[in-house]
Amino acid sequence: TARQKHLTFLEYSAGFDEEIRQRYALMNDLRLALAQRALHIELQPKVSLSDNRLIGFEALARWEREDGSRVRPDQFIPLAETAGLISELDQLVVELTCEAIKQLNAAGIDVPVAFNASSDELFDPDYFDTLIGTLKKYGVRPEQMNLEITESRAMESYEKIAPQLKRLIEMGMAVSIDDFGTGYSSLSHITHLAATTLKIDQVFVRQIGESPQAAQVVEMILRISERFGLNAVAEGVETLEQRDLLLAKGCRAGQGYLYSRPQRLEVLIDKLASNTVF
Ligand code: C2E
Ligand code: CA
Ligand code: CA
Ligand code: CA
Repeated sequence: TARQKHLTFLEYSAGFDEEIRQRYALMNDLRLALAQRALHIELQPKVSLSDNRLIGFEALARWEREDGSRVRPDQFIPLAETAGLISELDQLVVELTCEAIKQLNAAGIDVPVAFNASSDELFDPDYFDTLIGTLKKYGVRPEQMNLEITESRAMESYEKIAPQLKRLIEMGMAVSIDDFGTGYSSLSHITHLAATTLKIDQVFVRQIGESPQAAQVVEMILRISERFGLNAVAEGVETLEQRDLLLAKGCRAGQGYLYSRPQRLEVLIDKLASNTVF
């Protein structure tokens, strides 16, 4: 714009400094919030598409600051990654997930709860032992959890973590490849895939009715999952039309606003105490 053209270098760099300063302040706030365990999780139900029955949950990290404002995960997760705070954050989420599982069980609800792990941290040789140690500490069985691997560049050397993932699967934990069909979580890993589940990314689900290409990607992922004996879960199911198209293509599980937004555990337990069908 005209105004931008007239910015002097000094004005420009002042704005730039301000941006860096804000980022730095947010980073410090996040570090403090983590130290105080001030983050929480919300759970989003996963359902069987044919009969709306509850089959699991996904735990999603939430950060509400002291002034009540919320920072979105697509802001603070990348920030945690660059600030070297992601393994601390994900460890907190695993602990909160274990606590949630105990509370769900106490309310008579026993379905697996998924948590997200950035694939970078899976390369930490201590990651899996820490995870198993945390489960033991809380008295949670591996079948009660589901590890969702979010894609990153580290997926390129997926073979390196495959043995540990296989170990988790042998213990009974589900392992999902998140956002399947996008970016790095591509077909090249399929031959040495150590997973139980592929999650169809919401960009394809959103366009399944309008875009023949998106519909084809969904079909392809469903065929791959069948061929390799994996489960498939569709993300971001928002409409009945999307649900029906997914069912017609043979997808049996999904999650999305059609069923429920991610919600605090207390709210969900109240709703589910009487009925586990959405
Ligand atoms: P994701 O793992 O792909 O999670 C799904 C995202 O889609 C969530 O966003 C969820 O709220 C949103 N979503 C679910 N259903 C619908 C729908 O029907 N429509 C639309 N438009 N969106 C839907 P959220 O909670 O903002 O999380 C964003 C991303 O942040 C996650 O994507 C995940 O990659 C990351 N993330 C969240 N929590 C954690 C965590 O504890 N650890 C790590 N490493 N990453 C996390
Ligand atoms: Ca996920
Ligand atoms: Ca996803
Ligand atoms: Ca995602």
